Amino acid sequence: MSQTERTFIAVKPDGVQRGLVSQILSRFEKRGYKLVGIKMLNASEELLTQHYAEHVGKPFFPKMVSFMMSGPIVATVWEGKDVVKQGRTILGATNPLSSAPGTIRGDFGIDLGRNVCHGSDSVESAEREINLWFKSEELTSWESNQSKWIY
Ligand code: ADP
Ligand code: MG
Repeated sequence: MSQTERTFIAVKPDGVQRGLVSQILSRFEKRGYKLVGIKMLNASEELLTQHYAEHVGKPFFPKMVSFMMSGPIVATVWEGKDVVKQGRTILGATNPLSSAPGTIRGDFGIDLGRNVCHGSDSVESAEREINLWFKSEELTSWESNQSKWIY
């Protein structure tokens, strides 16, 4: 059973500035996923360079990092069945203009560089990103009363 699969979801600085934090996180809660870690922080250049290691050297990288440092980020970890893949579906396509209505990016964005949220793209990336953004003692393990109705 993959119920304990975890993913890393972050509300980017534009999502925080626009007051979308609760709306974004509520979509994961309503779907049935369990919040097991949450914090707000100003990410350092070092953290972002590690987080976006695959994009280092690309033309958009410097601007993306300065945007990600332009304000606080809400970093979260969610747990539940198929949460990595489903999380990406809930977020929508990378470019909001290609995101379907009903997805976060499709509902709240029109610009590739201001796409409101981040979600891990694979189980391996999720593990790496969770370890990067959270210390193990910052993550919780708790029994949801709703679990038996969701599963
Ligand atoms: P995703 O966030 O969907 O995993 P990527 O990992 O490909 O997408 O890119 C990371 C982030 O970098 C994107 O969310 C987007 O904000 C930004 N980005 C990606 N490609 C471009 C680009 N060509 N120009 C500007 N920003 C980009
Ligand atoms: Mg990515």
